[in-house]
Amino acid sequence: MSQVFSFHGGIHPPENKKQSTRAPIGKAPLPKQLVLPMQQHIGGPADPLVKVGDSVLKGQLIAEPIGRISAAVHAPTSGKVVDIAHYPIPHASGLSGECVVIETDGEDRWIEHEGIADYKAIERAQLTEHIRASGISGMGGAGFPTDVKLHLGDNHIVNTLIINAAECEPYITADDMLMRERPHEIIGGIEIIAHLLRPSHILIGIEDNKTNAIHALEAAVKHCDLNIDIIVVPTKYPSGGERQLIKLLTDIEVPAGKIPADIGIVCQNVGTTSAVYRAVHKGEPLISRIVTVTGDAVRHPKNLEVLLGTPFSSLLEACDLRPEALSRLVMGGPMMGVTVDNDRIPVIKTTNCLIAATKQEMPPAPPAQACIRCGMCEQACPADLLPQQLYWFSKGREFDKAKHHNLFDCIECGACAYVCPSNIPLVQYYRFAKSEIRTEEREQQKADHARERFEARQARLDREAAEKEAKRKARAAEAAKAQEARKAAAAKPKEEAAATATAAPDIKQLKTAAAVARTKLKKAQKAFDEAAAGNSEGLAELEQALNEARLKAEEAEKALSAGSPAPAEGGDAELKQLKVAAAVARTKLKKAQDALKNAEDKGLEGIDKLRATVEALEQKADEAQKAFDAAQPADAAAKQESAPKETPAKAEPAAEPALDAKALKQQVSIMRTKLKKAETALEAAESDEERSSLQADVDDLKKRFDEATEAFNKVEKAKMDAAAQAGIDLKQLRIDAAMAKAAITKGERALKKAEADDERAQIEQELVAAQAKSDELHKTLSQYD
Ligand code: SF4
Ligand code: SF4
Repeated sequence: MSQVFSFHGGIHPPENKKQSTRAPIGKAPLPKQLVLPMQQHIGGPADPLVKVGDSVLKGQLIAEPIGRISAAVHAPTSGKVVDIAHYPIPHASGLSGECVVIETDGEDRWIEHEGIADYKAIERAQLTEHIRASGISGMGGAGFPTDVKLHLGDNHIVNTLIINAAECEPYITADDMLMRERPHEIIGGIEIIAHLLRPSHILIGIEDNKTNAIHALEAAVKHCDLNIDIIVVPTKYPSGGERQLIKLLTDIEVPAGKIPADIGIVCQNVGTTSAVYRAVHKGEPLISRIVTVTGDAVRHPKNLEVLLGTPFSSLLEACDLRPEALSRLVMGGPMMGVTVDNDRIPVIKTTNCLIAATKQEMPPAPPAQACIRCGMCEQACPADLLPQQLYWFSKGREFDKAKHHNLFDCIECGACAYVCPSNIPLVQYYRFAKSEIRTEEREQQKADHARERFEARQARLDREAAEKEAKRKARAAEAAKAQEARKAAAAKPKEEAAATATAAPDIKQLKTAAAVARTKLKKAQKAFDEAAAGNSEGLAELEQALNEARLKAEEAEKALSAGSPAPAEGGDAELKQLKVAAAVARTKLKKAQDALKNAEDKGLEGIDKLRATVEALEQKADEAQKAFDAAQPADAAAKQESAPKETPAKAEPAAEPALDAKALKQQVSIMRTKLKKAETALEAAESDEERSSLQADVDDLKKRFDEATEAFNKVEKAKMDAAAQAGIDLKQLRIDAAMAKAAITKGERALKKAEADDERAQIEQELVAAQAKSDELHKTLSQYD
């Protein structure tokens, strides 16, 4: 015989249990409609698998559990689904919930089902899954899904399995009758649960006011191989509370904020063990339960086996309700139950009692008086709380303090309110406070989630921006590197050309020498021809002079061709094309780079594509630049190097005669413009100080303009002289070249306008001749300009 301990507080209200235990468990009539809420348990609601119009069979799965903590729902009888909508559900809140409504067909046809022949032969996980699929949840009141308590994971070792058979609340006798009539189901269910949990001890806690049930269980236990202790505890409310029963049977207190499993204890209600038995041995899901229908307003109080979804009205009718006597309809017991005003509410898995009370039986609560701080509530509280303090905190909306005083350890047993001389509905205050705290916590949780999401998004954006910036910098560094490489590649041939130019004889001198030699040759040829024609004397000397002149001319030509740079492949036109192509490629690259930067800054789509385009264009620009650099002649590079730049006036070097004439001409033009501007500014000067400063600038610019002009004239004169030596009037040659060019332009315009074929052919012929002349003139001119 195991020892019985005690718990703090508790009360002894009138039991009122005998009324409903006189008759055996009856069978509730089959109603026309069953209303099945999708949430009959703690956790997530089940999800309907049927639709309106579907025919269903008894035991058919109609809603599947969603998530770990949830329970399946099955059709309690055969019929047709006629509605899936929100209906009033049995809940303290009075709210409605999603329900599947089945119109019963009266045939009560089962779906094909069978139990597990040898549950010990299958995997424990498979067995637990079978229990989950049977939709079993705690039937003692809370409705926690049973499979969750049977599969606690490796972190929980179960030492003690406690079967709660206390049924301490007045009026309720459903468990009592179940134990009296079906003890083998309870013991069979315990065996299955024990097989899954492997506890060291199995204790059944039962109040001493259930003699018949105790006897029935004791008889059934004799046929069981397990060592089960039936512990009879004194009748005291609320000994059936989970924590109170654990204290009674083991003297262990479950710490605040913990669950029994944390200290190696699992509690199951006797009704739940019976449901587990039927599910495993018979293959029957949870579709019915025993409900105590009692109260003075029914003529025949009793316990009924009721299909889930049966409306209360149907049960009251079955127990012969006296409507005129009904004052209050209570769902559950008088201490923890909820008053309902709608008899269409259906029975669910946790409905254990329905009290149809008369006015005398449950008179309306007298008006609440002020708390007199008598402390009786504290003495009655089985959870060792300070109900009076909790009341003040709840009333004053000081929820933090209420929480700090372990409000959530309150099991809402109502013992405090029962003893309160001021008739204060204390439990209502606690329920209100709990609900407010839960709402606040939910809001806080939502806000936390929103904040976390925002912070995560912000972090992601920052990270992406940093990555973009790093990539951009890398690309910029790469582009700079490529630019450097291009510059180095371009500088190399220039350096080589400069070196070659330094080492090689002056091209212009060679040209001049060749032209002079050609002129002398011409003269010698002319003299020889005239002498030969006139049969003059000295022909032999003239012939020798001619040969010498020819030899010199050939040598000069050879020297010129050896010193001249190799013409670029394809000539000037191609060079221009390459230059244009390089510039176009650079422009395209710049545009693509701008588009990429814009897209990255604004986080637009298609960045990868743009990046690929930029890379491709970078390559093309590189190639175009290389092609241009390679095609550029060495002297062009030298020209570029020596070309005047828009540098500050004072830094400009004095013009040297060796400089390119074109560059010098340009420099003269720039200096002229600057000088004009400076003179205009000087005229507009208002103060003496400003005037003197500007005058200095004008003088300086004039000096440099004169120097540039002198340098240009010097170069120009040198060219004229060189040309003259070759018998060429450079001025006239330029005029002729310009006229030849004008003639071509004119001819091209005429060709565009010409309509007749003859006319076109004529103009084309003239154009060819003009082009040839122009080429010839420019070729000669290019030797000096
Ligand atoms: S029993 Fe009622 S009156 Fe007495 S202390 Fe508690 S709340 Fe106040
Ligand atoms: S309702 Fe709460 S505070 Fe009141 S006696 Fe029960 S456990 Fe204690």
